Amino acid sequence: SLLIATLVAAALALGMHKLLKSRSSLDFLLREGLRRNAFVPFYQPIVDSRDGRILGAEALIRWRRADGSFVPPGQFIPYAEDSGLILPITEQLTRQVIKDVARFGWAGTDQFVSINLVPEQLDSPSYGQSLSQLIAEQGLQSRNVSVEITERRQFHDLVKGRQMLSLLVQAGIEIKLDDAGTGFGGFSYVQELPIGTLKIDKMFVDTLRSGSDAKRPVLDAIVQFARQSGLQTIAEGVETEDQVHKLAAMGVYAIQGYVYGRPQSAEDFMRWMADR
Ligand code: C2E
Ligand code: CA
Ligand code: CA
Ligand code: CA
Repeated sequence: SLLIATLVAAALALGMHKLLKSRSSLDFLLREGLRRNAFVPFYQPIVDSRDGRILGAEALIRWRRADGSFVPPGQFIPYAEDSGLILPITEQLTRQVIKDVARFGWAGTDQFVSINLVPEQLDSPSYGQSLSQLIAEQGLQSRNVSVEITERRQFHDLVKGRQMLSLLVQAGIEIKLDDAGTGFGGFSYVQELPIGTLKIDKMFVDTLRSGSDAKRPVLDAIVQFARQSGLQTIAEGVETEDQVHKLAAMGVYAIQGYVYGRPQSAEDFMRWMADR
């Protein structure tokens, strides 16, 4: 935040000419990050609330700076998207994630990692091909890997997006719809794309806190819609036991949130699993 805040402040102070220069220095930093392998996955567990089983984890990117601090994704992913650097960054991240999943010992199990993709990643078949190759190289099965597509971003070519996602599904990789219910498209993505799981956004899970019941009907509608469409559900941003119980009463058992664990490094996540 300091980094971008500084760049933005400098840009504002210096005017448009320098703004372009600042943008290219952020570009430079992102490229340098790629060279240093500075984009690393943190892992947040997804737990079955009925028996505490670890169903899998979401890989959430962090940018490790030279001083050892970590920059959260909200502070650089938008810039990486604008510059197109999100594509090589995601490829680098994916290689690390697949290696980590092998270290987790998930080969031969149903446990999965979930990787966040932007729609542009699906403009060519190359990402899906290298993903399948990485999975095979590490002795994993395609059910150990799934990808998340956010409903907040629009496919510029939905037909092509559907083709690419169908290739992944044919290869055995599940597609999860991220931020379900928050997007512009209502539930059109579910009808258009081969989605297997809805990730219910924290915005709706938050309505389960006492005193904020006004939006609760939306949560009910999403869960009912998922059931009628034969989709799995994962609730995100679950922070309290009370929310876990209310979600279970609605038939939502796959839980991701601080109530079970925060995103953590591969090493910390492995220790966390071993301690359970
Ligand atoms: P997301 O995919 O919706 O991920 C969930 C976010 O909610 C994560 O933030 C996670 O740390 C946070 N979260 C999880 N449980 C709780 C909880 O109980 N309470 C609260 N307050 N927050 C919780 P994070 O890691 O900062 O990631 C933010 C967003 O950045 C992600 O939202 C995703 O859209 C994006 N992102 C993360 N990694 C990647 C990536 O590798 N590629 C792309 N394209 N986007 C990514
Ligand atoms: Ca996600
Ligand atoms: Ca999400
Ligand atoms: Ca979300």
